[in-house]
Amino acid sequence: MRADVQHVADGTYLVHGSNTNWVILTEGDSATLVDTGYPGDREQLLTSLAEVGSSPEAVTAVLITHAHNDHLGSAEYLRASYGMPVYLHEAEVPHARREFLHQVSVGTVLWNGWRPGVLPWAVHAIRSGGTVPVPVASPESFPAAGPLDLPGRPVPVHTPGHTDGHAAFHLPDSGVVISGDALVSGHPTSRTKGPQLLPDMFHHQRARAVASLDVLEGLAGDLLLPGHGPAHRGPVREAALQALERAL
Ligand SMILES: [Zn+2]
Ligand SMILES: [Zn+2]
Repeated sequence: MRADVQHVADGTYLVHGSNTNWVILTEGDSATLVDTGYPGDREQLLTSLAEVGSSPEAVTAVLITHAHNDHLGSAEYLRASYGMPVYLHEAEVPHARREFLHQVSVGTVLWNGWRPGVLPWAVHAIRSGGTVPVPVASPESFPAAGPLDLPGRPVPVHTPGHTDGHAAFHLPDSGVVISGDALVSGHPTSRTKGPQLLPDMFHHQRARAVASLDVLEGLAGDLLLPGHGPAHRGPVREAALQALERAL
């Protein structure tokens, strides 16, 4: 199966999995992988690395925006099989270990089942491993403040609300912001196209998610790579403002 890989900037690839996106940052023979899709996206994940001329062996580290199953799906598989570290914000580390789970429950999804797109999304989520346990045995917090010494030199930016330890990643040199689920450009359960917050039921603390849009608004960049929806070109500042207006 071919993966839907887009070359969006120098050494930067956005991959659309079955519903969730991940990003591959390449530098010479090495790569950084940001997020890993659902457990059921594994074949596409491995194919996408091959399509950009990389491989799991060449991945220096896996960065995770947040520990929901649709982003964490293959993190433990990669760590256990290839030995690279899995890094998250320190507040997200216990979430990745599954000491707790701040993810929308099946009951809440069913309660929202009358909303357009919710039931088909839920069926896909369950089929893709959205409810199976995928703990990471030894997740690590970011090794330093500021730019990480990894391909792409990503700078973690704490953007809590969707989860407590959600992080976006800023690539200041190329003007790219990898926003995870703190700011998306579409979702099967939303009729809105363009920059927006995910529907309310998906956020652990929606008010904090709204406040984190201010943080994203302050990042210089003109290419937004969200966890869901297409790449969004244009000032990241305006994208964050648009999402804020839609959220109020
Ligand atoms: Zn999420
Ligand atoms: Zn997600």
